[in-house]
Amino acid sequence: MAKRDYYEILGVTRTSTEVEIKKAYRAKALEHHPDKNPDDHTAEDKFKEAAEAYSVLSDAQKRAAYDRFGHQGVGAGSAGFDPGFSNIEDIFDIFGFGDMFGQREGRRTTVQRGSDLRYDLEISLEDAATGKDEKLRIPRLEKCEECSGSGAEKGTTAETCITCGGSGQTRYQQGFFSVMRTCANCQGKGQIIKSPCKKCHGHGRVEKEKTIEIKIPAGVETGSRLRVTGEGEAGINGGPSGDLFIVLHVAANENFERQGADLYSVVPVTFAQAALGAEIKVKTLDGEEDLKVPAGTQTGTVFRIKSHGMPNLGGRGKGDLFVAVTLVTPKTLTKEQRKLLEQLAEIEDVDFSDESFIDKVRNIFG
Ligand SMILES: [Zn+2]
Ligand SMILES: [Zn+2]
Repeated sequence: MAKRDYYEILGVTRTSTEVEIKKAYRAKALEHHPDKNPDDHTAEDKFKEAAEAYSVLSDAQKRAAYDRFGHQGVGAGSAGFDPGFSNIEDIFDIFGFGDMFGQREGRRTTVQRGSDLRYDLEISLEDAATGKDEKLRIPRLEKCEECSGSGAEKGTTAETCITCGGSGQTRYQQGFFSVMRTCANCQGKGQIIKSPCKKCHGHGRVEKEKTIEIKIPAGVETGSRLRVTGEGEAGINGGPSGDLFIVLHVAANENFERQGADLYSVVPVTFAQAALGAEIKVKTLDGEEDLKVPAGTQTGTVFRIKSHGMPNLGGRGKGDLFVAVTLVTPKTLTKEQRKLLEQLAEIEDVDFSDESFIDKVRNIFG
């Protein structure tokens, strides 16, 4: 069966705002919710369809991918899509009404994925250019080995809560539909731990520091994110671990300014070098390059040294290095230098009348 367009499912347009999409989804979800339509498979399908559409359109990144590539872009195959929630309480949670139903913490016995973790890492421009292997020490919640994550002391097991029968929720009639509430007896855990594990105090998870090795690819820039699957926090009740996201910050460099894959630098030259022409050395990220400055070079002239910029991330080739020449006037002169310059001044005969200097002034003060 061909998949329907996500916008069509929710009855919104491609230009609809986040708020409009949220509102449309809420209406659809309440209309088709299985609790309100028992044994109606069409309603259940529509409910799941709406949940899938919302999960994509409510995520800016996924939405952009969907807009460009359609269903293929968000990896929505024909395999069963799990909307990730199943009761009305969850729908309210999505819209931020979770507090109406009591505490959220530890509410469910069902399997829960661990949280994603973010780690901010600063690297040098040189490392960003070459790529780097890095070892990170990440503090995170891991499954308690003492109790294998159950939270119950070794040799004991948690007992199923008799009030809710282990579901962690009790049905509550409210107006025209019934909602599920957190079970007050077990605080939604579905289980009662009589003797909690001493190591994790019944939480099933403990904080640990783990060393993780990552490979930073060449060409990364500030804001680049690396995802390490499964290295986030441990899941709850045997759920899968979250992911670890490493957000990179490339430190400012004293010699180079970066723009995309290109680098910019400034190199000083003397009046004699600029007037006569010269071969000078220019610093690059990984050493030095020769640069031929032709006779009559003006201050501010920019030269391009090809392929001495940053590598393109995940692509081929490198950017360029742009070098701006700056004329430096000597602050002190030896006797001989002064004599020669005085001789030069006597015979100097430059006609400035053809040149416009006002643009240069504007550049300086603009
Ligand atoms: Zn209970
Ligand atoms: Zn434990």
